[in-house]
Amino acid sequence: MVKSNYIIELTNISKSFGDKTVLDDVSLSVKKGEFITILGPSGCGKTTLLRLLAGFNTASEGEIRIGGEVMTNIPPHKRPVNTVFQRYALFPNYNVFDNIAFGLKLRGVERKQIESRVKRALKTVGMTDYEHRDVNSLSGGQQQRVAIARAIVNQPQVLLLDEPLAALDLKMRKDMQMELKEMHRSLGITFLYVTHDQEEALTLSDRIVVMSEGRIQQIGTPTDIYNEPCNSFVADFIGESNILNATMVRDRLVRFMDKEFECVDEGFGENAPVDVVIRPEDIYIISQTSSAMFTGTVRSCTFKGVHYEMFVDTPDGYEIMIQDYNPFEVGQQVGMIVKPSDIHVMRKERVCNTFEGEMIDSSHVEMLGEKFECATVQGVQAGEKVSVEVDFGHVELTDDAEDGTAVGTIRFILYKGDRYHLTVRTDGGENIYVDTHDVWEDLDEVGIKISPDHIRVKPLK
Ligand code: ATP
Repeated sequence: MVKSNYIIELTNISKSFGDKTVLDDVSLSVKKGEFITILGPSGCGKTTLLRLLAGFNTASEGEIRIGGEVMTNIPPHKRPVNTVFQRYALFPNYNVFDNIAFGLKLRGVERKQIESRVKRALKTVGMTDYEHRDVNSLSGGQQQRVAIARAIVNQPQVLLLDEPLAALDLKMRKDMQMELKEMHRSLGITFLYVTHDQEEALTLSDRIVVMSEGRIQQIGTPTDIYNEPCNSFVADFIGESNILNATMVRDRLVRFMDKEFECVDEGFGENAPVDVVIRPEDIYIISQTSSAMFTGTVRSCTFKGVHYEMFVDTPDGYEIMIQDYNPFEVGQQVGMIVKPSDIHVMRKERVCNTFEGEMIDSSHVEMLGEKFECATVQGVQAGEKVSVEVDFGHVELTDDAEDGTAVGTIRFILYKGDRYHLTVRTDGGENIYVDTHDVWEDLDEVGIKISPDHIRVKPLK
């Protein structure tokens, strides 16, 4: 029998709380000794995934193996994992030694061995000679080190870390990141790290798992994920980018901002709708507009410590972000150049909204859990299931949720150079995607309106 090289194997894991799906068909294999980071916005299911691994929750579907063994019936304390939480959860009445020794004492480990293991753990986290200190007298960073020592003293095969640095200030966080990397190297065990901080993920990880709304979007090395994001969500979430609607004219030729650009991508077909992403550091900004690929006017220029960040408005109404070591004056006419290899083309996940609906009568359809008026549909019976399409730009959002036919909450905002592409989650848990020039904020509650002639009803055949 070939022994798996993977320490963690998640196969088709789903988890629901009531009728809410929090993890949806997640599969992931983690190599022994890897530093893997689960990265995603708040609420995407990162902690839930970690809790399933630790055994604090049970998956609704799928299988978890750790060290080749199925974990379904293994309680948390018998799993070869230990967890470090965001809030250190130390025992306030115990000193440093007793906090770290707690688990070992519980398991009846011999006194001498406890002493040497606690000392070794303290050395690993850089806190030799702290064993008699009261934990309340320690700084946040030191308390987190004790929490890590308490986890590694059990010699787990896998260390699960749930945003362990989130409560620390920026300077301490940066220092601890380096220390964690060093600890990972010296311990040689697998680290599964959860964070919503992109920079932290890029700095620490061998591989990053980007999640959104309970699903894995992309798995790859930090460089893969940064340079080759698989969709606009990943491109936007990892670092700053210009993401624009585009059309792949043919292989190696893409059209956006009403111009054609050479690129290096192939295999998207002809005249296919795509997204392009261009990192702000990949756009060259020059004073001569005559030799440029496109032109614009500098609207803002801010020094960011190493580079300047500029926003340039093009004559066609696009806003482009550029990072350069040299500043350009606000109001100055400038030219821009992009290399074909720096234009990254991504397949669009969808080109319009598609919903399942049911005809109520010839001019009303039920979708998104509500009754919408539509233009009269011929040849479709009441009660018949239909497919409904609505263009992103034909959904109207209202401030007052009561004014809409349906109600939703803004869950994700993607700026596309000349418009916002919003993901709105309805109260029934379905997504509707909206293109708008209006500025909304994350988690705004909105009414959803669609004019009847923009609802395209299609029989399901
Ligand atoms: P954060 O970074 O904010 O901690 P996260 O990505 O870790 O977010 P989770 O904590 O896994 O997200 O939560 C995912 C979703 O599941 C959230 O909408 C949360 O409210 C929901 N959820 C988590 N635990 C429970 C529970 N026990 N009962 C009901 N819903 C839950």
